[in-house]
Amino acid sequence: MCGIVGYNGYDQAAPILLDGLEKLEYRGYDSSGLAVRNGKNEIEIVKAKGRLRILSEKTDGGNALAGSCGIGHTRWATHGEPSENNAHPHISDDKNVTGVHNGIIENYQELKEKLLRHNYRFYSDTDTEVAIKLIDYYMKKYSEGPVDSIARAMTRIRGSYALVVMFRDYPDEIFCARKDSPLIIGTKEGETFAASDVPAILKYTRTVYYIGNQQIARLGKGTAEFFDIDREPVEIEPKEVKWDAEAAEKGGFEHFMIKEIHEQPKAVRDTINSIVKGNSIEFGETGISDEIIQGIGRIIIVACGSAYHVGMAAQYVFEDLAKIPVRVELASEFRYRDPLLLKDDLVIVISQSGETADSLAALRLAKEEGIRTLGIINVVGSSIAREAEHVFYTLAGPEIAVATTKAYSAQLAAVYALAIQFAKVRGTIDQQKYEELLAELGTLPGKMEKILEDKERIQWFAAKYSNAKDMFFIGRGIDYAISMEGSLKMKEISYVHSEAYAAGELKHGTISLVENGTLVVGVCTQNRLFEKTRSNMVEVKSRGAYLMGLTSYGNYSIEDTADFTVYIPKTDQHFTTSLAIIPLQLLGYYLSVARGLNVDKPRNLAKSVTVE
Ligand code: GLU
Repeated sequence: MCGIVGYNGYDQAAPILLDGLEKLEYRGYDSSGLAVRNGKNEIEIVKAKGRLRILSEKTDGGNALAGSCGIGHTRWATHGEPSENNAHPHISDDKNVTGVHNGIIENYQELKEKLLRHNYRFYSDTDTEVAIKLIDYYMKKYSEGPVDSIARAMTRIRGSYALVVMFRDYPDEIFCARKDSPLIIGTKEGETFAASDVPAILKYTRTVYYIGNQQIARLGKGTAEFFDIDREPVEIEPKEVKWDAEAAEKGGFEHFMIKEIHEQPKAVRDTINSIVKGNSIEFGETGISDEIIQGIGRIIIVACGSAYHVGMAAQYVFEDLAKIPVRVELASEFRYRDPLLLKDDLVIVISQSGETADSLAALRLAKEEGIRTLGIINVVGSSIAREAEHVFYTLAGPEIAVATTKAYSAQLAAVYALAIQFAKVRGTIDQQKYEELLAELGTLPGKMEKILEDKERIQWFAAKYSNAKDMFFIGRGIDYAISMEGSLKMKEISYVHSEAYAAGELKHGTISLVENGTLVVGVCTQNRLFEKTRSNMVEVKSRGAYLMGLTSYGNYSIEDTADFTVYIPKTDQHFTTSLAIIPLQLLGYYLSVARGLNVDKPRNLAKSVTVE
């Protein structure tokens, strides 16, 4: 979490830093700060608690800070309360080193004691200040340069960090280091950028370097050199980022979330097109061969939040089509429970950012056990993408709203493609079924567009029920997986207490919470389970619930049962999640708007959860 931006060039740095930080606001933060080297070669620091706007006002949009080399930070506190004092940048006692940090220095206490013994003084409660002073300590102790001092500090620091640092005596350079926290470098003629994520620099350059784990970068004006922890130079090939600059902006929509909801057909289409070639699927760069597919004994899907819900839907699809047993696990549980892994397991880790700390830890655990791993990841070059044995990139583009929509949909498309291909290779479906499923997969984007055309109905319904206090989402099988994601959207952005229940489980306790006017959404897209779920809907209705029904056209009617019915186009039973989720995302979105909430940045939440 948090955002880092660095700039070294010929333009005034502060406005560029502020602009970049604004693009990273989605990552969640509680305070912010800038450090810029002014004309007199002094480093000026300005910090503010709260929104970035306050920092911007304090510095007249950055104009009050002269100088063309600087660093900026939005902090999401882990050590020390959110305050101006604890905000970054942090500085060493004699102003030799100034730096910003994303991550957690786990052994900061022990390092702090060591530094206190060497007469260092501490003014903040952060772990970051310890790291900055440790670099200063090594610089003085060994009379070495920045790269050496940073490398020495890295060998002592345990934990995760993206560090961006300026040294008083190296006026035209910025130095970076990273371990397990994201950081990218961008260059163009005469200018160099550092940032936690691509949208921060997309306006200026598309040439991006992904610094490896435990590597160091030295940034001149338009140049970037890289070193490993042994201070040996390393070559990193720049990558050309293809994302639209537009894609990282709101583009006329009121919120990122509604823009991203509308981008789902494209996200799904792009993801499908990356692997479906004519009548077949080619995994190409993922490196998943037929031989590998044949050798899989069991699939374990590990993820957090919405990505976990993708896993929940995927388990039905994999088991039904490819007849492979599937377990779905929360990454935060998996990593600490000594899971019993078998040598022919395939561990699939799903994460939009590829930086989710729990998912990354789960991936590493599987790798340590020698288990084959596959990452389904949206951010190219992210930690999970680099560390997983196989990577399937979803092509959703940058997702800014905290509540995921298009990345979730792209992940679903990815798991469908995997399940279809696994089924074909393992002979559990024939060629004809394979082609039918592929053709149906290709129709999903168009069907998603159709649902979006009808969004005003949901808007109306959301406005009418904007005072809802409790909600239940019920469904069976895949419809239960859909319910989980619908319910999460409601909680995340609308702050409505909401629960997803397997419809048959409701009367084992929770039905006691249903009273007059309680809103219940019944999801009925599975023909086989339709009658069963409808009976459960009747049960809650007869206890006073107000019922919204969500079903596919052509299914048995639920209009007699539900008070308000939403239809989605018909599709193969395995793929209904992709369509049914859209009205539920819209419901969460419009309810949040109707309640006047901060849709894109819900309270207490951050986009990419890079701490456990
Ligand atoms: N651990 C550091 C702090 O609490 C950095 C947190 C962040 O990543 O923003 O200041």
